[in-house]
Parts: sequence; structure tokens; C-alpha cells
Amino acid sequence: MTEKHILQLNHVSLTYHTLRGETLALKDISFGIQPGEFISIVGPSGCGKTTILSLIAGLLNKTSGDIYLQNDPITKTNKNVGYMFQRDELFDWLTIEENILLGLTIQKKRTPENKKKAQELIVKYGLDGFQKSYPRELSGGMRQRVALIRTLATNPHLLLLDEPFSALDYQTRLNVQNSMHAIIKSEHKTAILVTHDISEAIAMSDRVLILTKRPATLKKEITISLPQNLTPFERRNHPEFQTYFLKIWEELQDEEENS
Ligand code: ADP
Ligand code: MG
Repeated sequence: MTEKHILQLNHVSLTYHTLRGETLALKDISFGIQPGEFISIVGPSGCGKTTILSLIAGLLNKTSGDIYLQNDPITKTNKNVGYMFQRDELFDWLTIEENILLGLTIQKKRTPENKKKAQELIVKYGLDGFQKSYPRELSGGMRQRVALIRTLATNPHLLLLDEPFSALDYQTRLNVQNSMHAIIKSEHKTAILVTHDISEAIAMSDRVLILTKRPATLKKEITISLPQNLTPFERRNHPEFQTYFLKIWEELQDEEENS
């Protein structure tokens, strides 16, 4: 494996075994990700995107191949990996502050120092004053920010984001993409975003991995060379954005036509 990669998958395959039989979900997937890089994974619905994140999080075991996180094979769940789901998964009966500290509690890292760090994140990312509020009092966008801060408070090296914006309305989604992108970059985190939204993938990431329909194989990798200093929203308005969109759209269209 390459030394500079924070994560490396080599020839990873996965078969689900159920009562109804076997499903080959992933076939011979290899890719690496460098520290600080933001990549997106796109592919047809049901192709195996969530399966890839579950493997990286150590929630599932590969059938064959190797997965390394910072040179160590992934065998079980790992505190260096933070997982954020489609829904914000906040607990309605806990305050915002308690929700944010929950990750630390679960990982037995609720030290005064980590609590202070969590408070700093709350203030830095615009949630000061909402510590004692309950999730129902916050907008969808703010709730997603709380979920991200909860994940960041445990200080993972790698963030896994599984369609985190799909439950938000369009306007909110664009705003949350901007703020999440800014937070992830300013905290120098490495991130993998799973999405079926081509525009979102281009707006957010340095590189897009395109998967085939199930069993997922890596069909193509596209490096997004839009200026780094632009926000995701500004990237959407960059003249080259549409070229990337068409390229990825055609690859995915190929998969639709073959089904
Ligand atoms: P995606 O996230 O790309 O929509 P998933 O990774 O969730 O796709 O699922 C990939 C395929 O594996 C799907 O066909 C799904 O039905 C199957 N699958 C997912 N989870 C399980 C499971 N726990 N047991 C059996 N099959 C599963
Ligand atoms: Mg999924």
C-alpha cells in the first residue's frame, strides 16, 4: 500500500449471505484516499455504496481483499472513523449539548478536555445559545450540523457521510453543503461522501468514484480540478462544472441502459 494513504482498499469483495441465498454486493474494489482529501462515491441505487462505508467503519466483514486504515488492517469498529447517516439520528429527549457529548460518552472519552473541545466546536460553528435546546427546536440544517459536530467531537481521522443531505429540502441542502464542507476543511478531516446526487458530488469533492450497478465495481475515477478556495455553491456556478456533470452523468446513464 502507499504510505501516504490514510485509507486503502485492495481488491475488496463482499457477499451477503441470507436465507434466500447469496448476494454478491461488491466485486474487486480498490482505491486509496489521502489525508485531507474529500472523495465522493456515486452509483445506482442499491449498488453497494452503503456496504462500502459499513466495511470501512468495521460494521461488516469483507469476504476477500484488504482494507487498511493508517496501515492497520480494519477488523472491527474503529474510534478513528466517524460515521454520519442519512438521518441526523439525534435523540429528541436529549438537549443539543447532551446529543453532542453522547459520542464521547459512548466511546468513553468524556474527559474535561474533550468536553471543552466540544464546547469550542459548538461556538465555532454557530450553535452557541442552543446548548440547552432540544432537537425539535432546531431547523433540519442545524440538526445536521449538530450531528456533524457530535461526530467531530470524538476526533476521528476519517469521516464517512452516507447521503447526509438527502432528507433536507433543496435550499437547505445547498446551505448545509456549504457549512459542512467549510467545517470539514477547517478541521482538516478526510472524508468520504456517498450520494446519488451528481451535482453534490462535484460541488463537495476533490475526486469522484463512480460505481457500476450491483455487484459494485469501480467504473471510473474523476478528479475534480475546480479551484479549492470556492465554496460548494460557487463551484456549482463555475464554467467547468457542467463538463464534469455530463461526464459523470454519461457514465451512470451507461449503467441505467445496461440494466
Ligand atoms: P446502496 O447504498 O448503494 O443503495 P447497499 O450497499 O445498501 O446499496 O446495498 C447493496 C446491495 O446489497 C443491495 O442489493 C441490497 O439489497 C443488498 N444488501 C444490503 N444490505 C444487506 C443485508 N444486510 N443482507 C443482504 N443483502 C443486503
Ligand atoms: Mg445506501
